[in-house]
Amino acid sequence: MLRDRFAKTWLDRVQVAKGWDYRPALAALEQSQWLPREQVEQQNLLRLRELLTHCQARVPFYRDAMKQCGFEPDDLRSLADIGALPIISKADLRAGYDRFRATGEKSPYDVWNSSGSTGEPFFFRLDRRSISANTYAALARGRRWWGMDYGVREGMIWSGLSDLTGTARGRLAALKRRISWSLKNITAVDVYLLDDAAIVRGYQAFLRSHPRVLRAIASGLLRFCAGLERLGLDGRKLGIEAAIYTGEGLTRAQRDRIESVLGCPTVTEYGCTELGIIAFECPEGGLHVSHDNLLVEYLVGSRQAEVGEQAEMVITNLNEWVHPLVRYKIGDFAAPSAQTCACGRTLPLIGELGGRVHDSIRTPQGQVIHGLYFTHLFDRLPEVAQFRVIQRQLDRFAIEIVVPEISAERAKRSIETAVRDTLGETMAVEVRTVASLPVAASGKTRWIVSELDE
Ligand SMILES: [Zn+2]
Repeated sequence: MLRDRFAKTWLDRVQVAKGWDYRPALAALEQSQWLPREQVEQQNLLRLRELLTHCQARVPFYRDAMKQCGFEPDDLRSLADIGALPIISKADLRAGYDRFRATGEKSPYDVWNSSGSTGEPFFFRLDRRSISANTYAALARGRRWWGMDYGVREGMIWSGLSDLTGTARGRLAALKRRISWSLKNITAVDVYLLDDAAIVRGYQAFLRSHPRVLRAIASGLLRFCAGLERLGLDGRKLGIEAAIYTGEGLTRAQRDRIESVLGCPTVTEYGCTELGIIAFECPEGGLHVSHDNLLVEYLVGSRQAEVGEQAEMVITNLNEWVHPLVRYKIGDFAAPSAQTCACGRTLPLIGELGGRVHDSIRTPQGQVIHGLYFTHLFDRLPEVAQFRVIQRQLDRFAIEIVVPEISAERAKRSIETAVRDTLGETMAVEVRTVASLPVAASGKTRWIVSELDE
């Protein structure tokens, strides 16, 4: 108990020191989740008008776009009027980064990177208002629905425990992260290399620390639980009360399997770096949208989706003023729902989330390399615009990269060295440069392609 309280205080202090104090935003979100929906929408209309006025005055892309379509923020009468503005994608942001930045904006921000699920690493300026409200406060609110405030003993199956860069700076960053997690009462297991030995070590570490909540990258959680089953280790002995998964979707069957291994419910956390928590699942099974931070549109082509229809999500971040995101297409599909939740919260529900699946690469030694290993590897190589990993044989794989010719040799060498350092000499890797990558029907580039039989 004392340790929980210390960890919570420590986390709060760190957030304050970084300028991300999430507590005032959390207090507001705790209230708005119960307000009549019309009241929140009315407030959102005022916030949107203010944000768009700011965009018109300060952001070159929006100034031009509004002029072109004759849009005046003052004329905004309903949230749907935003439909007159263009939809933007991550590719647009990459191509014209500075045109989306607010000139002369003094709000403090931090630079975060977004690995995303499309294989296009991307560095992004995030307004601290968005970091505190959308990222930390919205996550804290969701965790509280399950009685799992920050500070409670926590297990994580996550990335970032070990250094991927092979530099002293990278090693120091990984060490600092591990110390920080430990002070926050978190025991972490590395998602990159979840072979049987690592699963046993992780299991023993969790047995010692007894986490109440487990927060994990979805496919890592699934692999961990499948490993426990295979190795005959009793997952229920860990005493975990809720397993929060994020990063990818899980099927109902996969969730059932995890729940039976751990003996606790699984909880969907859905979000991305640029927008924070988009939706969080409550104990009644409702996947609630953070509509007090974000405006979510569901579009099929240019029309609004019907209830229950799979549609592209287009999102506006109401708290991002440094690098505004208005009608941002994140590349995920979901179906809107008209249902209300038995928990009584008025936050709208997502009916069903479309898939975001990360494949994996396997080695002859039986290691499974999570797809996120590659996104994080390429986070360090910003000159590589896109990549794709293809495995057709167990002892080799290929990486295709889209990179300017001038940086191609250097990028190839860094990738080969990093992969050899992680996987040793037993895996052959071929790095080749290509002009472009094929795009799947969903609009996304499938960036890990494994043609091995499961
Ligand atoms: Zn609910």
